[in-house]
Amino acid sequence: MKILVTGGAGYIGSHTVVELAQAGYEPIIIDNFSNSKESVLGGLRAILGRDVPCHRIDCGDAEALRGVLKQEDNVQGVIHFAAFKAVGESVAEPLKYFQNNVGSLLTLLEVLPEFGIESLVFSSSCTVYGVPDALPVTEATPTKPASSPYGRTKQMCEDIVHDLAAAPGNKLYTILLRYFNPIGAHESAKIGELPLGTPNNLVPFITQTAVGIREKLTIFGNDYDTVDGTNVRDYIHVVDLAQAHIAAVQRLLDRKATDTVETFNVGTGHGNSVLEVVQTFEQASGQKLNYVIGPRRPGDVPAIYADATKAAEVLGFKTSTSLFDSLASSWKWQLTLGK
Ligand code: UDP
Repeated sequence: MKILVTGGAGYIGSHTVVELAQAGYEPIIIDNFSNSKESVLGGLRAILGRDVPCHRIDCGDAEALRGVLKQEDNVQGVIHFAAFKAVGESVAEPLKYFQNNVGSLLTLLEVLPEFGIESLVFSSSCTVYGVPDALPVTEATPTKPASSPYGRTKQMCEDIVHDLAAAPGNKLYTILLRYFNPIGAHESAKIGELPLGTPNNLVPFITQTAVGIREKLTIFGNDYDTVDGTNVRDYIHVVDLAQAHIAAVQRLLDRKATDTVETFNVGTGHGNSVLEVVQTFEQASGQKLNYVIGPRRPGDVPAIYADATKAAEVLGFKTSTSLFDSLASSWKWQLTLGK
């Protein structure tokens, strides 16, 4: 069964391509390589022992998308990753985010019915919860105003999917996966996160500091009302996260979805503070990490972690990788990349 993976050369996309192929699906990548590298395709080949078809197009280009779907013929479902994801950049360049993230979804939604494709998995984010009133957050926790244009694009995309689902004649079934914080790399260390420039995210910043690319990590605030004053997040191994997509696609293709739009948190169900991540990284890597405490980062939510019950009960999805093993895989990947 052919599954189109938009943004399939990206961090979560590439790990999902591996899991799809190993589960017996035929992943087809489209990617414009605006935030990923061609070398990812070599990594996929090394893991899978064969090439994964990849079309270098922009997902927002309707004609190009039609061309791929004609050429590939009989695509059964789509996993839509293609999007920009840097919170800070989205504040500086909001239009770029609305055009790309919302625009590419609109294009997909317009084109999919032309090819009889009725199954879509969409990459959403726990950022839609804003600063939650209670923890852990369930799928029923009300969404709050997003703290960045990036977050707003995820909320808008969710709303668009819901509005479309309610329109007469709609045949599309969508699963919205709200990711918590993906970390780690494939155990082979053939694929992993490839931040361009200075990483925004915690774990690549940690591994780049440990390997000597960065001088020190700045922890953004230690005066929050949390276990040790630093922010709390739900860090999920990227391969676990990838596997949630397989469960979601399978559910859609089996016609088991009970609603035209279903939403799932994809996290471990546990929160860890930034300091806990740093300490666990030190244990997993055997490296002492140079870090300082700095001011709070604007827009940071003090604490958020998932209630993962619904994904477990409905998708049969559970994470299996510990924080220690996740960070060990990040370190192995960084050592493969080197300086
Ligand atoms: N963080 C940090 N220093 C960094 C990068 C991140 O202290 O250089 C913290 C950040 O404040 C947050 C956590 O690490 O509490 C995770 O941040 P990240 O950007 O990876 O993901 P987010 O939760 O913001 O999506």
